[in-house]
Amino acid sequence: MSGTRKAVCVIGWPIAHSRSPLIHNYWIRQHNLDAEYRREAVPPDQFEDFVRNLLALGYIGANVTVPHKGAALALSAPDDRARAVGAANTLWYENGTLRSTNTDVEGFLANLDATTPGWDRGLESAIVLGAGGAARGVVYALVTREVERIYVINRTAERAEALKKQFGARVRVVGWDETTGLMGGAGLLVNATPLGMQGQPPLDINLRCPASLVVADIVYDPLDTRLLQTARERGLRTADGLGMLLHQAVRGFELWFGVRPEVTPELRALVEADLGKRVAVVEPRAAEDPAVKKAMARRSKRNKKPE
Ligand code: NAP
Repeated sequence: MSGTRKAVCVIGWPIAHSRSPLIHNYWIRQHNLDAEYRREAVPPDQFEDFVRNLLALGYIGANVTVPHKGAALALSAPDDRARAVGAANTLWYENGTLRSTNTDVEGFLANLDATTPGWDRGLESAIVLGAGGAARGVVYALVTREVERIYVINRTAERAEALKKQFGARVRVVGWDETTGLMGGAGLLVNATPLGMQGQPPLDINLRCPASLVVADIVYDPLDTRLLQTARERGLRTADGLGMLLHQAVRGFELWFGVRPEVTPELRALVEADLGKRVAVVEPRAAEDPAVKKAMARRSKRNKKPE
């Protein structure tokens, strides 16, 4: 690495599955930067040491993923967003201080804004499945858009109650058996659990709802979850987990490199193709990769279906 070359990494345990290098190295090439984005597998007992030595290790910043998001918050100066969510996924230096934020909030909102414009216009009530780290970001995001009633449904009621305690009266804790009943009046349904993900139990839910309901799934593997398929079959508008993943990456890149990158169809196709392969790859030149071309064709076919 040359003296001026910038390096950023994603820190997790495990980390091989992370698509962040694919996304950020695509933007690095696109913007012709002398930079590199790597994976760092760091076990929990070494995380603090790693972060305290981040600069010495040659990194100007980092993304942080499972299981380190809470520790990253504690080891940095968080912004309001990271503090509210209780987890940090992006680290950068500001005047020598290690700062942190949580870009899942922005990713969730930007994805909905891009794929289902107007989703929050007059939105009075939303249903959020789950009360873990991702759900906390989703609920915070909905609070910032002033959604009046946010129904949180979770297997462990105490975790949902903790969200209510944190975010106040807008949050209402309800049971799984109330989901279908609530759908009649809700404008948005979000799956913020791993249910429906590769290797996880399916999400068993009855989408009996008006055609105005927007359905968002934060699971992105598989890309087209059963929930999203069913929603589309019923003519509902949908937002998928890959869109959120791509949009959440924008802010970190901007903080590290001073350029705000774009979520393009080509980038999306690159990551879709990689998800299809189910292995980490050395990034090809996107537009020339046959797998990318195939994924773009699949995507445009899907987009032609009535939504
Ligand atoms: P987490 O903190 O472990 O929370 C998981 C949540 O799902 C909890 O509410 C948990 O309920 C619930 N859950 C898990 N297994 C369940 C089951 N078998 N039945 C019912 N509920 C179950 O995880 P997280 O960080 O929130 O992540 C959740 C999902 O979001 C993951 O699939 C992750 O990959 C995805 N994610 C996607 C993005 C994106 O950019 N698209 C960003 C962040 C996360 P209990 O409280 O009862 O355990």
